[in-house]
Amino acid sequence: MTAFAGAAASGSGSASADTGWSTLSAPPTYQEFEASTYVDVDGAYVVNGDEALSTKAELKKFYNSMVGPFGNHDRDGHEGDLIVNTVNGRDDKWSASQALNLTYCVSTKFGTRQADIVAAMNAGTALWENATSKVNFVYVPAQNGSCTTRNNNVVFSVEPVNTSQYIARAFFPSSAKSSRNVLVDDSIWSSGNWEPGDILGHELGHVLGFRHEHTRPEAGTCFEDNNWRPLTPYDSASIMHYPQCNGSSADLEFQASDATGVRALYGS
Ligand SMILES: [Zn+2]
Repeated sequence: MTAFAGAAASGSGSASADTGWSTLSAPPTYQEFEASTYVDVDGAYVVNGDEALSTKAELKKFYNSMVGPFGNHDRDGHEGDLIVNTVNGRDDKWSASQALNLTYCVSTKFGTRQADIVAAMNAGTALWENATSKVNFVYVPAQNGSCTTRNNNVVFSVEPVNTSQYIARAFFPSSAKSSRNVLVDDSIWSSGNWEPGDILGHELGHVLGFRHEHTRPEAGTCFEDNNWRPLTPYDSASIMHYPQCNGSSADLEFQASDATGVRALYGS
């Protein structure tokens, strides 16, 4: 959530502030869009606040999906809290077997904060795991010493980053291995009433395939794109809803509707 980062730091940040998208009255050209998109330390493009795209081709595709005719949007009128990312109209989710074995390491590069990150990841993963028996994150401390996207012994890595662009950012199930990391800035320890475990819980929501709840029309602001499918009714208090985007909860806590949403996608 870049927006996250921005919001926590300033108290008034907009979720889409990093791309500048929501502040534009007309769509930018692709060149303008690319030039205004933040590029991460890994060379990844960060869109919608805290979501990473690894290649220019993916960025172009993302751009086209935002300015295009929204051909793959499920507009069947379902009121749907959580929404799942879609890629070419299909749900962006892990297979049933992979969802039960989402292995991760926590980089030793966190230094004196490493144990705190491990604890916050435990808190964040528990939010989703307690809602369904079909999702299981597995911490693999043996890989902490080489905890990068190049480590094929884990599904994803949790690594430190030093940026003013966001507090943390994540990836989607469809992301290439080279983009499968959760990057965490030190500002996670000074983010007001957003607890580190809830911030990482939000990021892990992306890891499971969930989009920002505030892209739904009911939010009335912070629109991102239409490449998603509703799973449950809109919830302005969802852990996936930025509080600063007309959210009804300021603390980013996990909601009963989030539990319903994850069960709708992965089963109970
Ligand atoms: Zn986010």
